[in-house]
Amino acid sequence: MHPDQPHGAAQAADFDVLIVGAGLSGIAAAYHLQTNSPRQRYAILEGRDAIGGTWDLFRYPGVRSDSDMSTLGYSFRPWQSDQSIASGAAIRDYVQQTAEQFGIARHIRYGQQVLRASWSSADACWRVEVRDGAHGAIRRHTCRFLYLCSGYYDYAQGYQPAWPGTQRFGGQLVHPQQWPAELNYTGKRIIVIGSGATAVTLLPSLATSAAHVTMLQRSPTYIVARPSRDKIAAWLRRALPEGLAHRLTRSKNILLGMYFYNLARRFPHKARQAILGGIRRQLGADFDVDQHFSPDYLPWDQRLCLVPDGDLFKAIRAGKADVVTGQIETFTERGLRLRSGQELDADIIVSATGLQLKMLGGIALDVDGVAVDLAQRHMYKGMMCDDLPNLAFALGYTNASWTLKCELTAKYVCRLLNHMEARGYAWCAPRWRDPSLGEEPALDLKSGYVQRAASILPKQGSRRPWKLYQNYVYDTISLALGRVADGTMAYGRAGVAVNAVPQAALERTGT
Ligand SMILES: Cc1cc2nc3c(=O)[nH]c(=O)nc-3n(C[C@H](O)[C@H](O)[C@H](O)COP(=O)(O)OP(=O)(O)OC[C@H]3O[C@@H](n4cnc5c(N)ncnc54)[C@H](O)[C@@H]3O)c2cc1C
Repeated sequence: MHPDQPHGAAQAADFDVLIVGAGLSGIAAAYHLQTNSPRQRYAILEGRDAIGGTWDLFRYPGVRSDSDMSTLGYSFRPWQSDQSIASGAAIRDYVQQTAEQFGIARHIRYGQQVLRASWSSADACWRVEVRDGAHGAIRRHTCRFLYLCSGYYDYAQGYQPAWPGTQRFGGQLVHPQQWPAELNYTGKRIIVIGSGATAVTLLPSLATSAAHVTMLQRSPTYIVARPSRDKIAAWLRRALPEGLAHRLTRSKNILLGMYFYNLARRFPHKARQAILGGIRRQLGADFDVDQHFSPDYLPWDQRLCLVPDGDLFKAIRAGKADVVTGQIETFTERGLRLRSGQELDADIIVSATGLQLKMLGGIALDVDGVAVDLAQRHMYKGMMCDDLPNLAFALGYTNASWTLKCELTAKYVCRLLNHMEARGYAWCAPRWRDPSLGEEPALDLKSGYVQRAASILPKQGSRRPWKLYQNYVYDTISLALGRVADGTMAYGRAGVAVNAVPQAALERTGT
């Protein structure tokens, strides 16, 4: 949207679009913006001094994806390795190379932490306040559209329960989010507290040089072994041109992922038996699978953990690692005492107890001076909120690769921008006005980190376009094919507040 925009549109802002975050989704957002809406002037503001987000922040031993890279990677840049489960460093390099290859890197401004954004209806723009990491100075920018690709958790710290006695512990207590680069764990006895993706990643990796590793969990998680190498993808890559092989592998993995997810939701007890049967085959008849790997919920009530090539089970079989299920009573000088009375000794304790969710990069938002409380809002298509003009966010799937949804969102944002440009609108905002709509939690997961964040998460509606089905096919229909003027999205000119557009005037046209 340039100064030559039609009458009634906003005055020129510093940027048309400000993207916040240079992780997987920020780079996808920039790519689609350049490709589908090339007239938009944009920049990426990144709070840290590095590209890659999650894949740069997390440095614990063994850090890797648990999704396959043909779908966690981009649709527009094939993942060029037979390893479909990739290390954190490989993913970081991939994000960086993508940014360089497509000329996105020069748009990134590092060390720019966005603190606050205020929407002005009079000017139809966001005023964005940014702390410059280099000297702490506050910088101000204006933009027409704010696109938050800021992830979903607090970068400053992970979640750690307040256990009694931590001060007494004579060894080292570390959180995987702040893994000390110099930590030497060779020959050490290690306890990893947790049973999620991080704990099951750390265990086999630490076990290669530690004296022994114990995974201490309060309750078990479903764990499924899968090959780290995709043989069909490798064969396709040899037999076909790269682009075609990539598209086929992606389609295969999207469809298989959806198939197994839906099968597990439809026949949860059979899925449970199949998963537990797989673990029994891995660990043998003597291992107490019921105690340590049999959760008291059904598959996909919480995320499944995938372990490449059964590495977790191999470490247990080799006697290098074990699993203890119990509750911590207190830290002691030498390790932990459980409520059962059992004592566990350790030189290093790792609290793989998860993340603290943080919505929209912790940015304080207001619309015409009225503070926005996200918990009172509803997500539209899992990418915007009601009555929040010209603001979209990238939130990925919980049951499939994050990037799949982020790319759908990125393309939809371009469609919105193009529609506004073509019609001379200055803003768009979805409106929640239908009294028959029911409210539901935004995330259908019972995981601790989701439950802890209930008070900061927006809600969703009981049906489309306010409901997210966590389903790539439904979302493709909704985001790639659905009309951008759907009778729910309001469009307006500068100087007109969102509420001032009569409901009856909402367009039901456009492509
Ligand atoms: C250990 C781990 C493993 C994971 N494995 C998988 C997996 O296998 N598959 C999967 O689908 N998902 C996985 N996820 C989820 C993962 O976060 C996503 O896959 C994806 O990397 C998120 O990308 P993103 O760009 O949206 O967010 P992030 O990677 O979190 O990047 C957000 C960026 O925004 C910046 N930022 C945030 N707030 C501000 C602000 N206010 N101002 C300026 N900059 C800001 C941050 O500094 C960061 O660089 C994993 C997550 C973790 C923690």
